[in-house]
Amino acid sequence: MKHITEEQFVSYLYQEMPQDAKLMVENHLNGCPECRALLEGLQNTIVAVDSLPDYCPEGALERLSSQFEAKTATKSDIMTPEELAEMLKVPLSTIYELLTDLPYLNLAGQIRFRRDSINHWLELREHNSHRDAKIVYEDMSVRLWRDAI
Ligand SMILES: [Zn+2]
Repeated sequence: MKHITEEQFVSYLYQEMPQDAKLMVENHLNGCPECRALLEGLQNTIVAVDSLPDYCPEGALERLSSQFEAKTATKSDIMTPEELAEMLKVPLSTIYELLTDLPYLNLAGQIRFRRDSINHWLELREHNSHRDAKIVYEDMSVRLWRDAI
């Protein structure tokens, strides 16, 4: 019997082979180390190929979602006063009250906010509120100390 063809190997490995053909392949394999080695190589290839569909969409999905995130981040990089109010969880009127303080863009009469600038402003404000709290605390202790004398 001649060597097993690649086609036969594949249908054998995918168990698409009729029983009698399968027995013939197995008989040949028993007496042919060459074909056994080939079968082993093919098995490894099939395992690698079979693992591709699982791997590929996963990587593609990650790429897609990071692209999507990048896109939405760019899109929301500029905010309207309404969006800023929503982000800061304050009424819209507060945004207009804070306009002298807030970093904003005036785009042909339209007020817009850059998310980066707002975040920076928030950070500064956060530090300031710590300092304010400390100042109030120090005032209080001075007052308490004065009261004590
Ligand atoms: Zn053979």
